[in-house]
Amino acid sequence: MIIAGEILDKYQEVMNRVFESKGTLRFGRNAISISSIAQQYYCEKAVELNHAHPLPPTKKMLQGEKGHENIIRAAEPVSKEECFKEALTAREKPVCIYELGIAWEHKEIPVIGLVDEAWFREGDVEMVVERKFSNNLKVYSSYHVQAQLYCLGLGEMGFNNTDTLYRIMVFKRACIDCPKLEDRSCDIFTNIRSYQCNNGESIMYTYEFEKQNIQKDLNWAVDFWQGKRDAIPTKIKAKCKVCQHKGLCDFSLA
Ligand code: SF4
Repeated sequence: MIIAGEILDKYQEVMNRVFESKGTLRFGRNAISISSIAQQYYCEKAVELNHAHPLPPTKKMLQGEKGHENIIRAAEPVSKEECFKEALTAREKPVCIYELGIAWEHKEIPVIGLVDEAWFREGDVEMVVERKFSNNLKVYSSYHVQAQLYCLGLGEMGFNNTDTLYRIMVFKRACIDCPKLEDRSCDIFTNIRSYQCNNGESIMYTYEFEKQNIQKDLNWAVDFWQGKRDAIPTKIKAKCKVCQHKGLCDFSLA
């Protein structure tokens, strides 16, 4: 049976390699973050342009961070070792760990990420939750990739992800300051697919984790970081219309 110390050692080994390595990946990076991979699935050209012409975070991005902070405000801070111990403990109901940092190696490349919510029981990852704040209440492919990479990563670290489910929740921006997010009293937390009140609106879908598909997606993403291909621009005009880099991009459809 795996113990918390083993998972912690494995995690720390990967993180040490991140800090000590020379950075042989694209843009001199020494690790690939899961959020960057999700951005690749939005538009890889935008990832490239964001590196060449970095821009300050938009108001929408800052609002999204505020929404995440609101949800975790009531959570108790615990050490990483404590998190892993709790995750491995036998219990009647699963335990939720917020903002869990994860790291593993794929083809000898460190992959790192921060999981919004992971629910564990005795080493089993029962559910991974990915939250978004957007006035567009849709579930994009990049959301699936991001959530499933968290499921994959937890498995690679030593947890059991055989029957893991993942959930994507999208809240309108009006929900960001709502006190019902902090204490989870909003009806969307009662396993319904959508909820609307006078203030905001949200959706929630739950899916089965598909390990084989996400491994293929990860391989595709890694090829870019290893310089095996040029950045691929999106073919979706709506994305270009709201892109911060459209004025600089030769491939803009807007
Ligand atoms: S303008 Fe369109 S193709 Fe160019 S970086 Fe932005 S989203 Fe990608």
